[in-house]
Amino acid sequence: MSPKKKSEYAVPKLKDFSVASLDKEVAKLRAAIDEESKAVGTEDEWQIFRDRWMARKHGILTQVNDLWLKAAPKDAKRDVGQRVNEVKKQVEQTLADALENKQRLASSSKSSERIDITLPGIRRPVGAEHPIIKTMNEMVGVFRNLGYSVEEGPEIETDYYNFEALNFPPNHPARDTQDTLFIANQESKPLRDRLLLRTHTSPVQIRTMEKMKPPVRVVCPGKVHRNDAPDATHSPLFHQIEGLAVDTNITFCYLKGTLDHAVKEMFGSSVKTRFYPSFFPFTEPSADVQISCIFCGGRGYRDGGACRNCKASGWIELLGCGMVDPNVYGFVDYDPKKVSGFAFGMGVERIAILKYGVDDIQLFFNGDVRFLEQFAYERF
Ligand SMILES: [Zn+2]
Repeated sequence: MSPKKKSEYAVPKLKDFSVASLDKEVAKLRAAIDEESKAVGTEDEWQIFRDRWMARKHGILTQVNDLWLKAAPKDAKRDVGQRVNEVKKQVEQTLADALENKQRLASSSKSSERIDITLPGIRRPVGAEHPIIKTMNEMVGVFRNLGYSVEEGPEIETDYYNFEALNFPPNHPARDTQDTLFIANQESKPLRDRLLLRTHTSPVQIRTMEKMKPPVRVVCPGKVHRNDAPDATHSPLFHQIEGLAVDTNITFCYLKGTLDHAVKEMFGSSVKTRFYPSFFPFTEPSADVQISCIFCGGRGYRDGGACRNCKASGWIELLGCGMVDPNVYGFVDYDPKKVSGFAFGMGVERIAILKYGVDDIQLFFNGDVRFLEQFAYERF
């Protein structure tokens, strides 16, 4: 405790409990709170101030309670009680303000002490391309370098663009391989106008040929949907890149040369390709493209055992392709006698899985940052 100064406030005993007399005493008390709190600066001084005013045993507020409230005659108790409470609030507020001030000062002085311009800056995490988008952009880049342009189309398609114009007639069994999600309440429309989530990016081929005359060279990247239950190799949502080239005298050789080049760009020049007969309604003939296994170098075995990535065959299936079926030209007003072309389509997830050695397609969509951030630091 600091030694008592002469002017220091002391609680007087009250004789007169009239309102006028009470207010006079309260005013003196309030003035004392203001005056004493203004003189306080250091933490120790605040401690002393708090003890002097709020200590349970002999604090001023306790004295006010004893000397004023307890001593007050019954009919004055209410007036005295109200005033004592207000005074208490004032003391508490004064202390709370002092504490807040102290904290503000402390934090500002600390942060100014901390500035050291020789330290490296704070590293903020930078967002990165999702591995699927990154793979898609790389693939688009390969075809851009070959002179292809990029076309996009709607994800909600009509039955006509998704199936019919691609030579999937209504009730054709080929439709069963691409079950999708249909928009509800479409029954009143003719079948060809009913809306669905597109099952492939191929409708963009039709839309492109409707608005462009040959020669056409486009790639169409985008999101597609199938009615598949999610598991390690299936997802109801995935991405495709579709390619289309139509011109005079385009032959299967161009198709082979283009895809062989694209695959080598993506997986390295030592990768071999082979074309395997297949079926798609909108291409004739159709082929699956297989590449020599990038994990075992096409040998079929590695680490002293069978290669599980290619099931010991040495080949991995990568994409589908073919020469555009002349029937398709009928839907877009091209003359199949004058033009020919090829189309190909590949799953972006499939390529990303091979490229990055990912074993579960769901990882791409779970949004787990621990998985995704691995791709942020990869350098080209
Ligand atoms: Zn292999």
